[in-house]
Amino acid sequence: MTSVEIDVLVVGAGPAGLFAAYYAGFRGLRVAVVDSLSEPGGQISAMYPEKMIFDVAGFPSVKGRELVGNLVAQAAPFDPVYLLGQPAQRLETVGTPGAGGGFLVSNDTGLSVHAKAVIITGGIGKFEPRPLAAARDFGGRGISYFVRDPTEYAGTDVVIVGGGDSAFDWADTLHGSARSVTLVHRRRAFRAHPATVDRARTAGIDIVVEAEVTGLHGVDRVEAVDIRSGEFGERTIPCQKVIAALGFTANLGPLLEWGIDVKNRRHIPVDSAMQTNVAGVFSAGDINDYPGKVRLIAVGFGEAATAVNNAAHFIDPSRPVFPGHSTDAAPEPVAAR
Ligand SMILES: Cc1cc2nc3c(=O)[nH]c(=O)nc-3n(C[C@H](O)[C@H](O)[C@H](O)COP(=O)(O)OP(=O)(O)OC[C@H]3O[C@@H](n4cnc5c(N)ncnc54)[C@H](O)[C@@H]3O)c2cc1C
Repeated sequence: MTSVEIDVLVVGAGPAGLFAAYYAGFRGLRVAVVDSLSEPGGQISAMYPEKMIFDVAGFPSVKGRELVGNLVAQAAPFDPVYLLGQPAQRLETVGTPGAGGGFLVSNDTGLSVHAKAVIITGGIGKFEPRPLAAARDFGGRGISYFVRDPTEYAGTDVVIVGGGDSAFDWADTLHGSARSVTLVHRRRAFRAHPATVDRARTAGIDIVVEAEVTGLHGVDRVEAVDIRSGEFGERTIPCQKVIAALGFTANLGPLLEWGIDVKNRRHIPVDSAMQTNVAGVFSAGDINDYPGKVRLIAVGFGEAATAVNNAAHFIDPSRPVFPGHSTDAAPEPVAAR
């Protein structure tokens, strides 16, 4: 049971949501960020943490993972409450939002957040990693869906399952520091970019095609995996870390039931204040929609600032929408107030 009382709840810890967390802190608001994923960063962390991004203002180029790290660091002085690994399933109105009331966001696993305003930065929806069937009984014991910290893999035998860009990016990142890296893919063709595949082959990464991981062994943690392939039949190899890079499913699912207008079951229409049709519920980033919308990280940042500043004014109409300039008011962490 997690119960939180907050000024602003941000639903979605992608780049737009993380910047909204910073901005809410800057406006002196207590903020929580909920995400169904166990990692902040949204699409960046789930799909391209090792890729360079070239169109974020002020960064000629920045690695996805570093951009997410910087966004988390930027919000950190304001101590946002991160509710990760928690889907936001329900939204209810409590009293009159904007006049002492607000919203209750909850889920079936005991999350309950009371907020005066809500900012939905849900991107393309609630992400869930596609599970590796053979690893069903090994959750958290040597099997992961993200590479959080590449140093954790140093000196270990790693098996990566998948044939997309993430699988190859991680193989590339870990090759050299891991004792061995074996990439297992069930088809002969890969979804990853051909140049990425060539780089992995040239680097000497062991790539097993038309194969699948059929079993995991180990007492407390994974110690070995069974691989079945058309080429060599069944084989058991030592392995202490399995990375299931099988992709993610994304689903707007619960948000469709929140009583908010949703266009084509994908996008939330907003006005120029980034407010939805429900007063006190704002939206920024890929999930929102208005004429001329462009779905880019840089655009989501601006929308997050607009949404938070209008939410601040909604919560307390005596506060101006314009926040002033950060250069005039160095961030004062919430804890110091
Ligand atoms: C391979 C690839 C490369 C890209 N390259 C670029 C690029 O170079 N430049 C660029 O500008 N953009 C790029 N993009 C697009 C960019 O990643 C998105 O525009 C950006 O991530 C949108 O950010 P967001 O915060 O709006 O949403 P997202 O990043 O999608 O984050 C939304 C978060 O909300 C969470 N969520 C949703 N619903 C719920 C719920 N009900 N409960 C809890 N959590 C929920 C999700 O789990 C997710 O973590 C790329 C995208 C991809 C896939």
